[in-house]
Amino acid sequence: DSAVELDRVAELVRSVPDYPQPGVLFRDITPVLADGEAFATVATEIAARTGEADVVVGVEARGFLLGAAVALVAGVGTVPVRKAGKLPAVAASRTYDLEYGTATLELPAGVVEPGTRVYVVDDVLATGGTAAAACALLTDAGAEIVGFGTLLELTALDGRAKLDGVRVDALLSG
Ligand code: AMP
Repeated sequence: DSAVELDRVAELVRSVPDYPQPGVLFRDITPVLADGEAFATVATEIAARTGEADVVVGVEARGFLLGAAVALVAGVGTVPVRKAGKLPAVAASRTYDLEYGTATLELPAGVVEPGTRVYVVDDVLATGGTAAAACALLTDAGAEIVGFGTLLELTALDGRAKLDGVRVDALLSG
């Protein structure tokens, strides 16, 4: 059943201390993606939560891998939200604060029409800054956010507090 399958997924998430900087416990989902059964479990479980979404948005970069799989299972398309400077045509951009410095996310031009129902996917929800910026970009474009789905929510960082009014679906928490 799915609880047993998710236990296996949890065992495959690798925790790497002090990456990318001292004090951060990095949760590496690479072994989950590399395991066919675990990857299918994750994609299927998140796809089951996408509801009436017209499109799944993946956040660069690991969100692309999960988001595309979720979209395929859900039977909808996928749109990448990218880091600044990667897209040839940009609909909108949004800069947000990181622990050190800032980052900018961009939405590609011409693929998300006003009224589009979107489901946003990323691998890990940490402080929530990235997810909140992605959702804000999409809301600015006139999209309706159906929800945000992630493999792992780091609950101690309370990222969902930044996602006011957005339903958060986390397969695992830790
Ligand atoms: P956030 O702090 O929620 O804005 O997270 C920033 C981005 O970095 C997200 O796309 C996460 O995938 C990633 N991230 C942040 N903290 C971690 C962590 N401890 N382990 C793995 N990925 C992380």
